[in-house]
Amino acid sequence: LQKDLETLKDKPCETTDGHRLNLWVNTGLMADVMRSLDRGAEGVGLYRTEVPFLLRDRFPGEEEQTKIYREQLEAFAPRQVTMRTLDVGGDKALPYFPIEEDNPFLGWRGIRVTLDHPEIFLVQVRAMLKASEGLDNLRIMLPMITNIPELDAANALILRAFNEVMEEGHRVVYPPVGVMVEVPAAVYQAKELAARADFLSVGSNDLTQYLLAVDRNNARVADLYQSMHPAVLSALQEVVEAGHAENVDVSICGELAGDPGAAVLLMAMGYDVLSMSATNLPKVKSVLRAISKDQACALLAEVMCLHTAEAIEATLNTRLQDMG
Ligand code: PEP
Ligand code: MG
Repeated sequence: LQKDLETLKDKPCETTDGHRLNLWVNTGLMADVMRSLDRGAEGVGLYRTEVPFLLRDRFPGEEEQTKIYREQLEAFAPRQVTMRTLDVGGDKALPYFPIEEDNPFLGWRGIRVTLDHPEIFLVQVRAMLKASEGLDNLRIMLPMITNIPELDAANALILRAFNEVMEEGHRVVYPPVGVMVEVPAAVYQAKELAARADFLSVGSNDLTQYLLAVDRNNARVADLYQSMHPAVLSALQEVVEAGHAENVDVSICGELAGDPGAAVLLMAMGYDVLSMSATNLPKVKSVLRAISKDQACALLAEVMCLHTAEAIEATLNTRLQDMG
């Protein structure tokens, strides 16, 4: 198995009929870096910046953050690294920044927190920009966007941070800025969001939770958390079409991207980047290298006519088994 992984590492993720797909990784810790490079990651689709924040007992300052981000950007350069601005609240609590709410998943989380605290956002973006000097492989991604004014406000703050660091003498390239599509409102406004962004990236973990109204961490309703629910698949298809209509790349960085069966469907839908945990990358790559885009599209057309997650999963499993 180790040998198979080795030989797979340097091969492109390409279907049997030559359709090329980018397989990127999700990271948070420095420890993820070696593992990702070992498995042939072509970029980082989601660097969860809250991870280093969680490991401390206070907000890291600008210099400290610059150092942390520089390590990530350097390790992957020249590959692109997508850094998500702080996504706390919901299930992610910083011990030194407590948020007490009855409905944390519907409350103060992600971009809502950082737009209410622009000083946190600005320090973070300044640190990312400074860290990217000379490497130019930074992409910035915004979590939990639910309306256009939030995106406009975040873009204005990023522009301000950029102007500041340039005035201070840093030579930085303006990074692509992308929007996470992880609430239903963003699915319905994907086209308008894409028009104001450089890329879209679906956060399927939260999108599934919010579409199905099922807490992603509640064991009691875990069987209702269906990543292959027909409504989830329709939403995923709509987002990629909306993004492409505005000529932006569309990625997915939720757990679903690391499921080989789902990856086949996402490839058929037209996703440009699948970003997953490094552990799943070789498996996904070997399945995608064994199928043609035409076969995947036929499979997608077939499952899109089915009405339950159970039927979709069963069909997917049978077809993939038939293909070996
Ligand atoms: C998601 O919601 O799918 C996602 C990638 O972000 P997180 O799991 O960190 O909320
Ligand atoms: Mg999320």
